[in-house]
Order: sequence, then structure tokens, then C-alpha cells
Amino acid sequence: KIIASIITIGDELLIGQVIDTNSAFISQELNKIGVWVKRRVAVGDSREEIIRALNEESRDTNIIIITGGLGPTADDITKPVLCEYFGGKLVMNEEVRKHLVYLFEQVFRRPLIERNLKQAELPEVCTVLPNARGTAPGMWFEKDGKVFVSLPGVPHEMKGLITNEVLPRLQKTFSMPFIAHRTLLTAGIGESFIAETIKHWEEKLPEHLKLAYLPNYGMVRLRITGWSTDKAKLENELNTEFAQLKILVQEWLVTDEDHTLPMALSKLLRLKNKTMTTAESCTGGYIAHLITAIPGASNIYKGSIISYDNEIKIKELKVSPATLQKAGAVSEEVVKEMAAAVLMKMNTDYALAVSGIMGPDGGSPEKPVGTVWVAAGDRNKLVTQKFQFRFDRDRNIEMTATQALNLLRK
Ligand code: ATP
Ligand code: MG
Repeated sequence: KIIASIITIGDELLIGQVIDTNSAFISQELNKIGVWVKRRVAVGDSREEIIRALNEESRDTNIIIITGGLGPTADDITKPVLCEYFGGKLVMNEEVRKHLVYLFEQVFRRPLIERNLKQAELPEVCTVLPNARGTAPGMWFEKDGKVFVSLPGVPHEMKGLITNEVLPRLQKTFSMPFIAHRTLLTAGIGESFIAETIKHWEEKLPEHLKLAYLPNYGMVRLRITGWSTDKAKLENELNTEFAQLKILVQEWLVTDEDHTLPMALSKLLRLKNKTMTTAESCTGGYIAHLITAIPGASNIYKGSIISYDNEIKIKELKVSPATLQKAGAVSEEVVKEMAAAVLMKMNTDYALAVSGIMGPDGGSPEKPVGTVWVAAGDRNKLVTQKFQFRFDRDRNIEMTATQALNLLRK
């Protein structure tokens, strides 16, 4: 078993100013190629702490991935510390120097100062991993059969290096078997219920195929991972098992690709050549954001009316004041009127309307915090559904968006 540890470096991580998303990404990617991440550690920009972490994390692991502290400023000390740790001296790397000159002259259009050029000085004992997305390259060290990789902290640069440089090199260095995945997404069913439903199938899975349950906001992603040295055979086995799994969860299947719900919905609309629109009260445009974050949204999405206040529901969506008075803003009647109005107003095929109480205030005995009404459909038919969430404001918003998108998809 190949075991890894991740060390993230930076004072900003320790004071909570920056959330360590790098570790999560690296863990996911290592997991996909079958590397087991045993620990994740964050340390400050301190020589002693970095050396201590290197010593401790390398004791019982094969791979140590380090991010952060490679910048040109004085607080970024990872590089000199690594140079000290692995021995040898810093030498100017001609490839990296050229890349820096190119970046400053052609891209940033700023003068290249001495401080920046220092980024091209690298430990002579490392293999340099070119960073097409930024100034600081990655560094690959090998010591006592272990691999140490140092990467820039900037998430976008780190990701490029992990995908293009680190993963392929790790697979080669540790002669790792070929790995492949099949992923599907379900909605409207809990993971324990899925586990019951697919029990017999799961029990019969061969040793080298593993199923993972990845639940999130009322949806469950199922991923089959397979390991083998025979690529063609593995792909065949995966296809067979995946086809069986799909049949078992058919009723709740959202997509059989590695897609999110907004991605699946966008694709569905694109295939049908239809457009949609939203009328959002309690989510305040969040659903619109989720949809427009998907490339190509302009083909399927027309816009949103964020009718947070009742005044806007009346003015922009022609919700009747009598309905608001009688049923309240969080009601089946109101979301129906909102959806019908936005369908007409924006001349679209489908509409989604949400209204709810996200908390922490605003609940009542009849309509506690977390009460949400959703309407979804087209001009001929609008379906409505009431939800009762029990989370904090952020999660209630997230759940509302997820369940609403799922209702429209159906
Ligand atoms: P740079 O050359 O840009 O200075 P660097 O390798 O020195 O890169 P840092 O200075 O540590 O990296 O961080 C650069 C940026 O990356 C910071 O803005 C920080 O917010 C972000 N960052 C650093 N570490 C992490 C992490 N573990 N998770 C998410 N973001 C991070
Ligand atoms: Mg830093």
C-alpha cells in the first residue's frame, strides 16, 4: 500500500485567514490513483516547524506532498529549508529563468526584478516540475525510497502541477497499477437505504473493485474504483458492474457521469434544446449562480428575478397581495404564482421558484425555520413540493438549491 502525508505551509492557514483547500484536492486526486493519505498537517512559515513536519511525516509514509511558501517574499521560506534538508546548494535553472522572463515581459508586462529572478534558483538535488500557470515551479526530491514534492500554495497552480506532473510521476515511480472509475449521482435516497438496496451486488464485487459512498446535501454519489495491471480487462469489468449498479438505483439516478446536479441539469436542457429561468426568494440568486457557473449556461439559462422582499414579488412577479396576505410568502400558492409569472416574463420553457425560511430567525410554530416551498415546471404543468430542513442558514440555502434543481430535473 502506498501511503502519503500532506504538509501545508503558511501562517495564514494557522490563523484561519485562508482555508486549506489544497489538502482536500490533493487527497481526492491521490485517492483516485489508489494512494492512501494517512495524515494532513498544517505548519507556519517557520524553519523549525517545517523540518519537524518533514521528519515526522516521512517516518511511515512513501509520499510527502508539501504546498505553500514558495513565493518571492521574505516570509516564504520553504525552498531554502528544503535545500538545507536535502543537502546541496541552490542553482540557477535556465528553463525556469526563461519562463520567468517570458511571464514578466509578455504576460504581466512588469519589470523583472532581482527578487523575482530568485525564484529560478532551485536546489540542485531536485527534479524541477515546470509550472505553466505561475512563477514558482514544483520540486521533486527522492530520499531513502521516499518521494517529497513541494508545490506552490496558489490553488490553481498547485492543481495544474498535481494533474500534469505529480500524478503521472508517482504512478511511474511506484509502478502503480492502472486505475479507473465509474461514477453516478443519486437523489432522493439516503446512503443507508442505497446500501440495503444494492447489498447483494456489492457483496459480489471482486476484490479489486471498491465502491465508495459520497453523500452531499441530500444526494449520494457512488463511485466504483478498480485496480489492475490489465487495462482492457478492468474497463470491461467496470462496465459490466456499473451497468448492474445503474439498474439497481435507476429510480434515483440523476446522472451516470462524474457530474454535479447543475451540470446534469444543464446537459439535459441542452439536449432538449430548452431554456429555463428562476424566481428566487430565500436563495437570493444562489440557484442562478450554480447554473451560471457551468460553462455554456447562456444556451439554457435566461435569468432570475430575485424577489426577496414581498414588494418585489408583487411588483415584478405579479404575486397577488391577497395570496401573500392569506397564505404567507412561504406557501405553495406563492411559489406557483412566482414560477408562472417568471415563465411568461422571461419567455422560457421551464421555471423554478423557491420561497422559504432559512433562519436563524423568522420561524413560527406553523412554519419553523427550514420550511421551504418549491415550484418547478413548464407552462402546462407546475409541480410543487414542501421541504422541511433542519440545518443552519448556509446549509438550508444549499439544500434548497439542490432539492429545487432536482425537482426541476424530474
Ligand atoms: P506565491 O508565489 O504566489 O507566493 P506560494 O507558493 O508562496 O506562491 P503562498 O504564498 O503560501 O504560496 O500562498 C499563495 C496563495 O495561495 C495565498 O494567497 C494563499 O491564500 C493560497 N494558499 C496557500 N496555501 C493554501 C492552501 N493550503 N489552501 C488554499 N489556498 C492556499
Ligand atoms: Mg506563504
